[in-house]
Amino acid sequence: MKKIIALTLALMLMVCCLAGCGEKKNENVLTMATNAEFPPFEYLEGETIVGADVDIANAIAEKLGKTLEITNIDFDAALTGAATGKYDVAIAGVTATDERRQNMGFTNDYYTASQAIIVTADSAIKAASDLEGKTISCQEGTTGEQYLLDNSYTVQSFKTGAEAITALVSGKVDAVVIDDAVARALSAKQDGKTVVLDEALTEEAYAIVTKLGNDALIEEINTALAELKEEGKLAEIFEKYELPYDAE
Ligand code: GLN
Repeated sequence: MKKIIALTLALMLMVCCLAGCGEKKNENVLTMATNAEFPPFEYLEGETIVGADVDIANAIAEKLGKTLEITNIDFDAALTGAATGKYDVAIAGVTATDERRQNMGFTNDYYTASQAIIVTADSAIKAASDLEGKTISCQEGTTGEQYLLDNSYTVQSFKTGAEAITALVSGKVDAVVIDDAVARALSAKQDGKTVVLDEALTEEAYAIVTKLGNDALIEEINTALAELKEEGKLAEIFEKYELPYDAE
């Protein structure tokens, strides 16, 4: 009887161990969270997530000797997911801000961006100074939203930039504030109904998000990024997506 109990216990222990091992992170995989609603950095082509960030992530993963595994979720969830370590990284055109640096790690910058204004083609709004008292849409949880709140505009936030621009075209808001390259990409799909103003509202830099203090991974990615820059691979990727890039 004792033997049977011992054997059962041993078996149970073994099963537990195996299950535990299964949950352990696969060292050969780089898990990435993104929000595929941000063309041309990440967007859906059919079922596939594509874009400049995806190409950069694949190039980094290759240098790290890992396979890239992408999860498509809301923008704020992607940030939280990387900050808590649920995913190794969030790559989603994420602006490295001081506020975010309080609770997530950032690699070096890889792209310079700004917030831009989209208005309807016939709008009287020609510059940021014309925005006073206007209702402006943006994407939830972004630096665009933060800019609008900081400057006391009436804000309508949407889960995606596409919804924010739909609100503009249907006359629900007077303007959209969103990252410049994305503004151009979204506006280009509105059959000439919208235009992007030249004025840049902010200056921002995109970087890759990790868990706070994951310095080993940050270091590895920084090395990979520097190599990709040196090799001209970054410039090549940005050119492919018609993204202006100053390789310095
Ligand atoms: N760059 C902006 C931010 O970090 C928007 C990013 C996004 O919507 N994917 O808040």
